[in-house]
Amino acid sequence: MSDEKSIEYLECKGISKLTNVANQEILERNENLEYYKDIFYQCGKCGTCRTVYQQNKWPRICPSGEFGKFEAYYLGGKNLLTWAVSTDKLKWSEKLAKIFYQCSVCLACTQQCQIPEIHNYAGEWLMAMREKAVQLGFGPMPEQAKYTEHILKENNPYMENHEDRLNWLPSHIKQTPDAKLAYFVGCTSSYREQGVAIATSEILNSLQVDFRILKEEKCCSSPVYMTGQTEKAKKIAEKNVKAFKDAGIEKIITSCAGCYRTWKDTYPNKFGLDHGIEIVHLPEFLLEKLNSGELKISNNKTPLKITYHDPCHIGRHMGIYEQPRDVLKRIPGIELIEMDRNRQNAWCCGSGGGVRSAFNELSSFAANERIEEAKMTTAEAIVSCCPFCLNQFKNNIKNNEIQALDLSELVKRVI
Ligand code: SF4
Ligand code: SF4
Repeated sequence: MSDEKSIEYLECKGISKLTNVANQEILERNENLEYYKDIFYQCGKCGTCRTVYQQNKWPRICPSGEFGKFEAYYLGGKNLLTWAVSTDKLKWSEKLAKIFYQCSVCLACTQQCQIPEIHNYAGEWLMAMREKAVQLGFGPMPEQAKYTEHILKENNPYMENHEDRLNWLPSHIKQTPDAKLAYFVGCTSSYREQGVAIATSEILNSLQVDFRILKEEKCCSSPVYMTGQTEKAKKIAEKNVKAFKDAGIEKIITSCAGCYRTWKDTYPNKFGLDHGIEIVHLPEFLLEKLNSGELKISNNKTPLKITYHDPCHIGRHMGIYEQPRDVLKRIPGIELIEMDRNRQNAWCCGSGGGVRSAFNELSSFAANERIEEAKMTTAEAIVSCCPFCLNQFKNNIKNNEIQALDLSELVKRVI
């Protein structure tokens, strides 16, 4: 098992960073496909984006390509298709749109490609192609359209009622009515992985932090945005921002990697919603409290061998790799064993980008490969910092062969 890699990569810009390009223009995310049309063809179709360099045991990196088993499903093929439609050599069709939706936008491929323009911006055009598919009526996929309708009515993609959103909240959780800090629970922790919401609230209470949960909280819009439905996603985002600003919230803690990325990055950088609210993912918050001495961890060792799964939306999309590991390493009795594909090279769990709802077989294929890789480390548990990854692992683990846990649940056990 490898831990620290000696390979140097180009810095990941994610799909969303405002970036200085050579002519000093500021490139806004998902800019018109026209902007990139000379770049697509720089792709040499070398196939490097299919595998992790110098990785022998778990070399493959693209769930879409490995499942689809055809060049179109890898980034190289998508680049060629994007170039072809952008130069009118290929017409849009349902089949073409489906190829682009059969991808979790995990960005593992962009990490492998070392052509700077592709490495830095391919995530932009993977998203731009989805936006274009929606504009032309070829997207989203029917299952994604269905959950979007439900989000617009009931503020969650799980076909649940909004009025049940806080059903998980136990009476012993103490909230402060005028707190400036909010816990943004997210849809998955509210309706599916409620243990994460309870553990996070209990940690905040034990730290004696003044916080509150807003009953006006709505889906962050990530499942809508990630499927190319930008206008609808922006409208949802505006409602969330208004509710949190009206409530006087100055800081938000998130449980879900998707909520974090969406609030911190998509809202201001894509939707132009400069909310000015500080957005912190739970592991960042926990590490800060550990470093300040406010979070005290029991010295009672409960031995547990774990491995850590990097969620794409905090990892490659936002650059959070070390904070969760730093928290885990501070828990007595925890032995962290890295999977071969870790950090920038982590294999996606297969739940994001609308894939789980529309392409269930691909989604399970990706999850099962990650679970196998985790089991190979001999870890007893696969730990992550995202309830969506957690739920995906739980749904795919067979015969309790390995546990799946969220970092919050592990920390709650030892404070
Ligand atoms: S995207 Fe990069 S790594 Fe992939 S085929 Fe094209 S040039 Fe090669
Ligand atoms: S974003 Fe992920 S699933 Fe999509 S082509 Fe790249 S590696 Fe494959």
